[in-house]
Order: sequence, then C-alpha cells, then structure tokens
Amino acid sequence: FQLTTLAMVFVSAIRTSLSKPQVASQRFSSGGSRGLKILAILYRGGDAAKQEPRLLGTVENELGLRSWLESQGHEYIVSDDKEGPNSVFQKQIQDADILITTPFHPGYVTPEVFNKAKNLKVCVTAGVGSDHINLNTAIDKKVQVLEVTGSNVTSVAEHVVMNMLLLVRNFVPAHEMIERGDWDVSQVARNAFDLEGKVIGTIGAGRIGHRVLQRVLPFNPKELVYYDYNPLPEEAAKAVGARRIDTVEELVSQCDVVTVNCPLHEGTRGLINADLLKKFKPGAWLVNTARGAICDKFAVADALKSGQLRGYAGDVWDVQPAPKDHPWRAMKNPLGGGNGMVPHYSGTTLDAQQRYAAGTKSILEKYFQGKEQEPANVIVGIGKWATKAYGQR
Ligand code: NAD
Repeated sequence: FQLTTLAMVFVSAIRTSLSKPQVASQRFSSGGSRGLKILAILYRGGDAAKQEPRLLGTVENELGLRSWLESQGHEYIVSDDKEGPNSVFQKQIQDADILITTPFHPGYVTPEVFNKAKNLKVCVTAGVGSDHINLNTAIDKKVQVLEVTGSNVTSVAEHVVMNMLLLVRNFVPAHEMIERGDWDVSQVARNAFDLEGKVIGTIGAGRIGHRVLQRVLPFNPKELVYYDYNPLPEEAAKAVGARRIDTVEELVSQCDVVTVNCPLHEGTRGLINADLLKKFKPGAWLVNTARGAICDKFAVADALKSGQLRGYAGDVWDVQPAPKDHPWRAMKNPLGGGNGMVPHYSGTTLDAQQRYAAGTKSILEKYFQGKEQEPANVIVGIGKWATKAYGQR
C-alpha cells in the first residue's frame, strides 16, 4: 500500500511540474526555498533623482522595486557601474538569476557576459529596444528576453515630431543666437522652412513609426510614406494615408524628411551609410530616435558638413554614454546649424518612467507566479524568437 501511495504522489508531482507554464522560475516558488538574485543596471540620477522621486529609472530610485522585492526574500542589486571586467555588472552577473537593464544606460550583454552568467534565466528591458542584449546568444542559452513593450512609444513619437520641427524650422541656431545676445533674422530664416507640403517617410512603421505618421498628418504633408517588411494593417495605413514603398533606397530618394523607427539588428546596423546617404534628396532632414548604430556616425557627420543632409536630430548614439569627442556632438551643416542631438531621453520622460517601472514590476510578478507573460512583451522566449520586429527570418 505504501509503495502504491508513494508512486501516486510521485506521478502527481511530475504532472504538476509539467503543467506549470514554461515561464515559471525553477528555483523559486512563493513558498520559497530561496529568493532570487536580481541585478539592475540603471543610470545614475544624482541630485536630480534625490529631488525628483519620479525619476524611477535611476540607481537612486531603483524602479521603485526594492521594498517589494526584499519583502519576498529576493536580493536586489542596483548599479550604474557597467563597463569592464571589474565592473559591478560583470561581477554580479555571474550568479544573478534576473537581469534588469535599460536602453538609456545599457548594460551590454555580449556572448562573453552570457558565458559568465551561469544562473541567468531572464533579461528584462525596462523600456523598449533590447538590442543591447545579444539576442541570438539569449536564444542559444535559453534565456528569455522580456521588455515593457509600448511603455514609451508615445514619448518617442512626440520627440520625433519635435525633432522634425526643430530641424525644418532651424530652431536651434535661432535660439542660440538669442542666448548670445544677437539678433539677425535673415541669418536663421535663410534655412527655415515649413513642415507643411513636405514628403515625410519612416523606416519602420511599428508602434512608434505609426504614431509619428498619425502625429504629422495634421501638418498637411505632401505625402506620408513608409518602408517596413511588416505592412501596417490596412485600416491604419488608410487612416493616415501612408503609401508603402518597397525598398529603403526608394524611400529615402523620395522624402524631404526621413525618420528611423526600426529596431537595431543585423539587417539595420549601419543601414544609413555613405552609399545610402547619397541616395537621399539633397538637403533632406534625418531624425533617428531608434538606435545610433543604425547610422554610420562618420558618414552622417560628413553628409551634414557637405549639406547633403540639411539636418540630423535624435537622442540615440552608437555607444552610451557618448564619448566627449563623438562627431555627432558638434557636427554642423554649412550654415552652422542642423544639429538636434540630445542625450538619450526621449523615452524616459517622467510619464514614461512611471509606465516602464510599473511594467517591469508586472513582468517580474508574472515570472514569480509562473504566469504567462503578455505576448507583446516577449522578445525572445525560451530558446526561440517571439517577435517579428528584429529582422526577417
Ligand atoms: P515595434 O516592434 O512596434 O516596431 C518596429 C518596426 O520596425 C516593426 O514593424 C518592424 O517590422 C520594423 N522593422 C524591423 N526591421 C526593419 C527594417 N530593416 N526596415 C524597415 N522596418 C523594419 O517597435 P517600436 O515600439 O516602434 O520601437 C522601435 C524602436 O525604437 C525600438 O526597437 C528601439 O530601438 C527604439 N526606441 C527608442 C527609444 C528612445 O528613447 N529613443 C524608446 C523606445 C524605442
């Protein structure tokens, strides 16, 4: 009898474990034999973060997760120290179960970092864009990559529209003139135009690209166009009146204003290089809030200097923080303007921080409870791609 009972208990235990969703942690249950080690790499907020608690994405404010995580017995390590083998990131990743990173101050998860990270099961991106994680290696290592999809797409789309306007209207040199104490209207008006009547195109028409099209429509552009291997849903394309173009070369040759809104992956790294820039309309404006490495930094600086581009604006850089001598910091067009670069902050407004902090908590909560994640938040599932946005496969 005892043997039969034992066998039944054994079979039922196997059934229970098999029926658990794949996302469940194998080393933690709410009854909890041991808590998990969660490492977060965030940017330093300094005095601003002490004065403004809504700066949740900072080392100081820790995404608002510490007391919640610790009350459940987890260990929570937060740092901005991310470069080099002796950094907190590289040391603590060795036995971390979960890594939280943000695109604003990316902890680069290279294949070497994955090799060190023996316990790693989940990478959570607090924000949108997980290209700082080597996604192919994540698949090989069966580490899930989850992000708070949609959390800051409106914030970025607004920034894109602002960038288009400030370039086309030649805002930055006009403002700098006022700060200098000068007043010379024709000096700035000689390179100022209206957005109305221009052909505006987006490379990538996902959540951000589509929102940009929606937001520029009331400016009465001559035409809205897009290039994306995933077409916009018919209704959405009709509502904004956007024409799909088959190749990126064709798109840039037709646009006065080009905006980049696709992820960084093998197919987009260096996409906007010297060859493609030659195909742009002379004097076009380019806005890139997607990822810096989608553009060749030297080719862009040269195109601006020669006037082939009239302006370049965005907030993303090929390495972050950008080095002091990065060509995009000081590049100018022949009339001394055309540079709208800022640090990476378009997707980290206080409104966005509230959303991506809450989204990170919700992802962790689901993981701890073994619940299925929101499908849109899964970039890489266990051993497989879950998104179609990181290139055609
Ligand atoms: P999304 O997944 O909704 O849309 C991305 C679109 O790009 C998809 O439709 C995909 O098919 C398309 N795409 C992929 N490769 C392409 C290619 N080679 N050519 C044309 N289109 C291509 O993503 P999203 O929410 O719109 O975000 C897009 C990107 O914006 C993110 O991956 C991230 O890199 C960047 N981003 C930046 C900030 C910021 O603060 N600057 C914030 C959020 C997102």
